[in-house]
Amino acid sequence: MSKPVVAVVGRPNVGKSTLFNVLAGERISIVKDTPGVTRDRIYADASWLDRTFTLIDTGGIEPDSKDIILSQMREQAEIAIETADVIVFITDVRQGLVDADAKVADMLRRSKKPVVLVVNKVDSFEKFMPDVYEFYNLGIGDPIPVSAASQLGIGDMLDEIIKHFPDDAGKDEEDERPRVAIIGKPNVGKSSLVNRLLGENRVIVSDIAGTTRDAVDTAIKYNGEEYVFIDTAGLRRKSKIKEDLERYSIIRAVTAVERADVVLIVIDATEGVTEQDAKIAGIAHDRGKGIIIVVNKWDAIEKDNKTIYKHTEKIRQILSFMPYAEIMFISAKTGQRTGRIFDMIRMVLENNSMRVATGVLNEIVTEAVAMQQPPSDKGKRLRIYYVTQVAVKPPTFVIFVNDKELMHFSYTRYLENRIREAFGFKGTSLKFIIRERK
Ligand code: GDP
Ligand code: GDP
Repeated sequence: MSKPVVAVVGRPNVGKSTLFNVLAGERISIVKDTPGVTRDRIYADASWLDRTFTLIDTGGIEPDSKDIILSQMREQAEIAIETADVIVFITDVRQGLVDADAKVADMLRRSKKPVVLVVNKVDSFEKFMPDVYEFYNLGIGDPIPVSAASQLGIGDMLDEIIKHFPDDAGKDEEDERPRVAIIGKPNVGKSSLVNRLLGENRVIVSDIAGTTRDAVDTAIKYNGEEYVFIDTAGLRRKSKIKEDLERYSIIRAVTAVERADVVLIVIDATEGVTEQDAKIAGIAHDRGKGIIIVVNKWDAIEKDNKTIYKHTEKIRQILSFMPYAEIMFISAKTGQRTGRIFDMIRMVLENNSMRVATGVLNEIVTEAVAMQQPPSDKGKRLRIYYVTQVAVKPPTFVIFVNDKELMHFSYTRYLENRIREAFGFKGTSLKFIIRERK
């Protein structure tokens, strides 16, 4: 089930990152008193009562002029409208209502997305409440007074946020069509790839009307099967500011991956794989999605018979946490090998939801244990009693053992490799849960 997305929007210095850290359940450590300091946390998992959600900080770099502030706020609001289930609009009681707030409020109101209006820095309700009423003028509902710094009013605000969550986290669950997300750094060729796939295949107008999200998804029919490409409108977003663009590619990755079954991670062949690619790929890996690494712009580099090998080596090294992912070398520009993408998606989907029978699974594990003795510590040896698959998407296994402490990461990795050799599972991560049985 995909988690609701909550996006935080607001002018610089109203306290977005302070509030973000409070909601993310962390110490207020990243807040700076000097504007302009880059903050790393763009997204976080958060929860309130029995609801969990993904929290997004849309705030980019600190602009230095009023004009830029407004254009940046518009961009934040657009991103929030595109990606979020609920938008938290933060204002500042000490600065009062400013023109930019009113303009952004207009945009948010028109989007018809649920908006929670928060007035921050109300460190004393007695002193500041009269000033809070002014924010009714924005016309986007009741202002909720909070103090992010002293953690006042946070519970009321969270109550209001989760009230707007869809009951069943949207309609994605009823839709049987595979959902594909295309993610990657700016300019690696994501839009070009989508356009190429759109150009070569039948495009279907989405028949699940209603929510704003559907409008940005595109269904493509290939070999009689429909695939929904997630947030294709977002792929075309361009910003002039490099930091904002990079921030946006992370926000997109988080929200699109959340809804996807399979993720295409696009890398630029002319640039080679980078740490920024690893950051983005990590999002798909952490969430246990089916993964295909797509090296694009293959037309644009000089090649000899070692080129593929060298690229593969480098990718395996930088993206070492996903050795299971298939790598494709394509050109969105010329269409080289793009036709094979759908077959690859199909294979990865099957593997991501594959179930293996307990009997065969235990035969494989017993054999593996016989071939390489489990680790021991202070005379006590790890014993593996039984393994069973308990879930798919990603395939999840419970290993019953005598003592959890004895189960080393490296031995789990060894068993994973044996299971992969026996059953395949190409393109998907596997999850292992270790349980003790006395
Ligand atoms: P952002 O630019 O919107 O992310 O704002 P920050 O979270 O970086 O906060 C900007 C400034 O406002 C910092 O100096 C914070 O310490 C301060 N601040 C944040 N929340 C509160 C609050 O509830 N009360 C007061 N008095 N100051 C706050
Ligand atoms: P996005 O920001 O990831 O969506 O990237 P775009 O699709 O906008 O592409 C960025 C630039 O790379 C554009 O100038 C494209 O024409 C170019 N480009 C995209 N795919 C290819 C490719 O396969 N080969 C070459 N040579 N250029 C490409």
